[in-house]
Amino acid sequence: MRTLLAGNWKMNGLHASLAEIRALIRSISERPAADIIICPPATLIAEAARTVRSAPIEIGGQDCHAESSGAFTGDISAEMLRDAGATAVIVGHSERRQCHGETNRIVAAKLTAASRAGLAPILCIGESEAQRDRGEAISAVRRQLSESMDAKFKPVELVVAYEPVWAIGTGRTPKPQEIVQMHEAVRAVLIERLGQEGAQIRILYGGSVKPDNAGEILSLPGVGGALIGGASLKAPDFLSILQAIPSR
Ligand code: PEP
Repeated sequence: MRTLLAGNWKMNGLHASLAEIRALIRSISERPAADIIICPPATLIAEAARTVRSAPIEIGGQDCHAESSGAFTGDISAEMLRDAGATAVIVGHSERRQCHGETNRIVAAKLTAASRAGLAPILCIGESEAQRDRGEAISAVRRQLSESMDAKFKPVELVVAYEPVWAIGTGRTPKPQEIVQMHEAVRAVLIERLGQEGAQIRILYGGSVKPDNAGEILSLPGVGGALIGGASLKAPDFLSILQAIPSR
């Protein structure tokens, strides 16, 4: 399974920021050490998709609505993202869950919508700090993952990103052993739910991945790549993470 690095720009980036994508393209080879997806804000998706047209970089959205169209002011459907040139979409990011009240049920509907539109969904799950302090991290993440997939969900190109909420944007990360344990638990749920297909799904780690810790995190067993927030905004940081990928 090839490593995947996905960059989540969040609500950052104006037109001028596309220069970072152009800088990435100039610096990577035709077959970089990882699959690369950059998720800029929705306003930049169409132009970003044109920018990467002949480069080994895909463009993704950061969220989508569950419906394909309708009276949902301000929302963007998975079909619209696809139409704009995206090939992937993040669903269930903890900032959506926290700031927009997205429940597992809503996330499950978005996951189905992403697949319907032909987008590779990057499903985010992760425990809060209180859950980890209470010793409930694994059970909370197992439940969240299970409830974020509808019973009939078909996992075409699904990627799962384990992102402890307390590690996002804080500079803190779990201990390597905690990351390994959680990835094993996530894999077990995927196999329980999806059978052999669950064994093929990439599980990313996300939460304060930086050039100086990426080598260690990406070498851990079961870690199939990283979802990167802050360090995806500047091409040199993203490239350092790419270069830190250990050869397997
Ligand atoms: C994220 O937003 O998904 C994320 C992991 O952010 P950061 O890398 O900045 O912690």
